[in-house]
Amino acid sequence: MKPSNFAISPYISEDDIKTKVKELAAIIDAKVKNFKEPALALCVLKGSFIFFADLIREVQTDLKCDFLGCSSYGNSERSSGEVKLTLDLASSVAGQNIILIEDIVDTGLTMDFLVEALKARRPESITTVTLLDKPSARKNDFKVDYSGFTIPDDFVVGYGLDYAEQFRQLPFIGKLTNNSIN
Ligand code: 5GP
Repeated sequence: MKPSNFAISPYISEDDIKTKVKELAAIIDAKVKNFKEPALALCVLKGSFIFFADLIREVQTDLKCDFLGCSSYGNSERSSGEVKLTLDLASSVAGQNIILIEDIVDTGLTMDFLVEALKARRPESITTVTLLDKPSARKNDFKVDYSGFTIPDDFVVGYGLDYAEQFRQLPFIGKLTNNSIN
């Protein structure tokens, strides 16, 4: 599970994540209960699958769910800058109130790409949510509507977030340091 040249230091605890997920769910609830039809919650795979699953289970109002896949990192800690849709939605978003749920907004390129791609499909509204936000790493002026934790420009893993597909299963968020380069 853990190659010897990596160390993971605690960053955000399981309890703090649970509290924050409940707070975000209450905010989303207050918003989606005003819509005439159930809002469409979109999970951006792969990183947000655990956050998404926990978040929607705390929302009391009916939601619809769909999944899309996006990739910008490959097997590295730095965004390649090129965002690719790796899995498209199964449903149409025309006329829907979308809640777009991400694990982390870093450069902002992924969210910007997704919001623009979704807007072209003419939804009624798009609300963006992220568990983690790194505003200091932004390469554009993207501002997320609701974020859980604002963090510095550190590379974090766990709670769905990976490094080269590892560490997603950790129940907490940790900071990854590569002992061979740090
Ligand atoms: P952005 O396009 O905003 O630079 O990055 C968005 C995506 O990059 C996230 O959905 C996530 O998959 C990945 N990412 C950004 N920062 C981190 C990080 O600190 N740790 C991990 N594991 N992935 C990150």
